[in-house]
Amino acid sequence: MPERDVISSHTEKIYEEYDRRTSKSQELYERARRFLPGGNTRTTIFWNPHPIYFSHGKGFNIYDLDGNTYLDFLGNYTSLIHGHAHPKILEAIRDSMERGTAVHLPTENEVRLAELMCNRFHSVKRIRFSNSGTEATMNALRVARAYRGKDKIMKAEGAYHGTHLWAEVSHHPDPRNIGPDDNPNSVAESGTPSSIAKDVIIYPFNNQEITERILREHKEELAAVIVEPVMRTMPPRDGFLDFLREVTSEHDILLVFDEVICARVSVGGAQERYGVAPDLTAFGKVFGGGLPFGAFGGREDVMEFSNPTRERSIDHGGTFNANPVTMAAGIVATEMLTSEAINRINALGDVQRKGMEKTLEEFNIAAQLTGIGSYMQMHFTDEDVKDFRSSARAKSSLNAPLYISLLNNGISAAPRIMTALSTPMSNTEIGTFIDAFRKSMERITPLIKQIAPNLTIG
Ligand code: PMP
Repeated sequence: MPERDVISSHTEKIYEEYDRRTSKSQELYERARRFLPGGNTRTTIFWNPHPIYFSHGKGFNIYDLDGNTYLDFLGNYTSLIHGHAHPKILEAIRDSMERGTAVHLPTENEVRLAELMCNRFHSVKRIRFSNSGTEATMNALRVARAYRGKDKIMKAEGAYHGTHLWAEVSHHPDPRNIGPDDNPNSVAESGTPSSIAKDVIIYPFNNQEITERILREHKEELAAVIVEPVMRTMPPRDGFLDFLREVTSEHDILLVFDEVICARVSVGGAQERYGVAPDLTAFGKVFGGGLPFGAFGGREDVMEFSNPTRERSIDHGGTFNANPVTMAAGIVATEMLTSEAINRINALGDVQRKGMEKTLEEFNIAAQLTGIGSYMQMHFTDEDVKDFRSSARAKSSLNAPLYISLLNNGISAAPRIMTALSTPMSNTEIGTFIDAFRKSMERITPLIKQIAPNLTIG
């Protein structure tokens, strides 16, 4: 029997239950499909058979149109670190909105948020605001090219830096096109011109030897190397970030950290945690207090190439850059994100991982948990997950049944089984998550045993 049919026969009840609980969402999805391609306007949150439509959120809870309640274990892909509708953030938003939304004049709050971020991130001496992480990485790379006067950049295979053209190279390449382990191809994703892919050199995350060889081959043409220090939840191997720092400095190539997600690991982000200072950093998510946000910043001499008074500076316009409402929300969210708050949710993340490991042991299933502190991802594989290729070898067809089953049990995570905690959470919510995870694993273990017997221990 083809694998798809085996999965269907095992998961029929899970999907029946899902449809039964979410009929209003299903109806709305049918309407959405008449106007939005695939009923969707944000690829990263697409899943089959249909989404659940959001009604409202409060703290760590999400309520859908059908009246179901879910614990929010994703927080808009890690952005809502203080949960939904936090009273202090709401107050700042209301106050700011009443004085006007977006305007063609700078505000005191943008200066305040810039100050707060430069104080947190020691490598960031100057910063500029945008509206998304996509714009943040795109503009960091533009400044790097302007500074260096070179076109090429190096990015890790499988890394996600948003949806601009230079990021959409080898983001999720078909394993049939990726080339040999020691010489990964630059694969243009759909819609990315092949001319762009020629300017994006691909390296294997966490592999120093191969990365060093590739980088030295292209050292004369490179403006920057971009890395997400904890790449899609995969922590850097000991010394990998130090190596990137050394080899880029040696050739005066700029090192760009994408801390759009991993900044949450400590007050000074992954750069503080791993003790490596990049030349430029891209930010997003948490520092916008739940509103659209991005920022890029770093060395003063490099960021000078975005100073409008300077020749050869990049044009960095944006009708909504540093809009007052986001700035107001961002200040409050950033001030509330103290080291105590971060340590607390990081410790809860450890409890969550331990609980999941225990559950996996109970069902004799091998799987990998990546991530650090307050966010993590589960991979259905028995091998160490350390880069794109090892993560792509996981049995990802098992994610959907687990994901839908978690929803049926009141947990909203990411379809790739990624979770992120928020500061209103406590051990109680972790306990509820583990219960739901246990019930879901119980449902899908027979399927795992059938389609991935290598994951069965003993
Ligand atoms: N970089 C990383 C590492 C991300 O995870 C994301 C989004 N999840 C982005 C960039 C893009 O950010 P945005 O969705 O705000 O454009």
